[in-house]
Amino acid sequence: MKRISIKMKIMIWFTAAMIIMVVGTSAVNFFISRQVLDQSIQERLLDTVSSNAQEIEYRSSVSGEREAQDFFLSYNGGVLEIDDDFLNYSEGIYTALVDSDNNLLYGELPVRLDSDEAFSYTAVGTIKSDGEKFYVYEKQLSGNNLEGLWLRGFVSERESANVLYNMVRLSVWLIPVIAAAALVGGYVITRRSFLPIGAIDSAAREIADSRDLTKRIDIGGHDNGHMTKDRSGKDEIQNLAQTFNEMFDRLEDSFNAEKQFTSDASHELRTPLSVIKANCQYALKFAEGEDDFRESLKAIEDQADRASVLLSQLLFFARLDQKQGRVHFDFIDLSKTVSSVCADRKILFPCGVSLKTKISPEIFCKADENLIERLLGNLIDNAVKYIGKGDRVTVTLSRQDENIRLSVEDNGIGIDPEAMGKIWNRFYMADESRHETHENSFGLGLSMVKEIARLHKGRMEVESTPGIGSCFTFILPG
Ligand code: ADP
Repeated sequence: MKRISIKMKIMIWFTAAMIIMVVGTSAVNFFISRQVLDQSIQERLLDTVSSNAQEIEYRSSVSGEREAQDFFLSYNGGVLEIDDDFLNYSEGIYTALVDSDNNLLYGELPVRLDSDEAFSYTAVGTIKSDGEKFYVYEKQLSGNNLEGLWLRGFVSERESANVLYNMVRLSVWLIPVIAAAALVGGYVITRRSFLPIGAIDSAAREIADSRDLTKRIDIGGHDNGHMTKDRSGKDEIQNLAQTFNEMFDRLEDSFNAEKQFTSDASHELRTPLSVIKANCQYALKFAEGEDDFRESLKAIEDQADRASVLLSQLLFFARLDQKQGRVHFDFIDLSKTVSSVCADRKILFPCGVSLKTKISPEIFCKADENLIERLLGNLIDNAVKYIGKGDRVTVTLSRQDENIRLSVEDNGIGIDPEAMGKIWNRFYMADESRHETHENSFGLGLSMVKEIARLHKGRMEVESTPGIGSCFTFILPG
């Protein structure tokens, strides 16, 4: 069965909620209006009958001032003057004058009241006639000779029903119109909001199909052809798309770095292999005597050593990469570890170069001892490798504020300012000529050091002046 899309689900929910809301509020509105209208029609009946009662007057004779429009009825030896303001039918309300024998004297009524019912509606009551419901109200007149007379008023309940009927008719039109507007509005909003999701989907597919990591999701906001990283003015889905783009950026970077690494590693390995092969060919074809063979074998041995060092460094990197996120640290005595590495390395120092140590005792921290040995070993090896005319390497371990600082300082050749930003890159060597003098240099040492520092949630700092020397510091929090 085909699953309903999220877009569709939101729209169905949105429209259904809208219809329920409109129908619900109309029903409540209808119910309240009915009560209010009933009440108001009863009040209007009371008011009309009461004001009509003011328009009737008894006169003993018709002499005197007389208005042409007034109506006159002979009554009780005199006349009843009914003013022309008397409303016998107004806005659905009937009013009529009735005598004490229930005879209709003036006006007309939609329903006749029997004698037993007559004069019992001194408060508004209801009666039914021919299936129609009426409100009825009777008021006895008061004043000179008027006591035997009553005003009787009727109004059909339909008067209020009509207003309600109009309301219902309006709602019947309004509900579908509102529902349609909600549907169209909801469709436009959800369609626009979900556009980046479709783009994320197709970009991810394209990347998967074509393995082209340069593809990005178009979420607008281009700046000189590049997508801006500014998230202001973007909704949640556009932010999600941007997060995907940033993830693609990082994937592309690390993919390119991997590619570069593999190509550099192959290149570095090819050199010793070519030299080995050339020496084998030479020895087999041209070598004469033991000395010639020895020379070729020596060259082969050197290159095999070089390849072996490179392979072990590559292997170490591979293991470091595998460790990402799941390194297990022990609580170690860093002072002891640093002292022991210095003691081991000192033996290998060339003549004329001294190793000075300033190690604060009992500095404990959580770390991987092997990795720390490797980090320090690399820094000391570099200090000796690039000592030039210098003669001193100093290793310092101390605690400063919240951090542990381990630094290796030398008074060697130093590093050019332009090279400073690149020395941490894999296979970077500041000067190719140095490479030749140091056979087992591949430009991997410092990137390894940086990686180890990162694994310990620490960082590396370097200060260097060409001709004066360099100082590399590992800063470990805690
Ligand atoms: P490698 O030593 O194998 O070339 P590294 O990654 O250890 O590779 O170092 C990268 C570059 O940084 C080196 O080629 C060198 O030029 C420079 N460098 C590292 N340490 C020092 C140092 N103590 N003094 C001068 N230059 C250094």
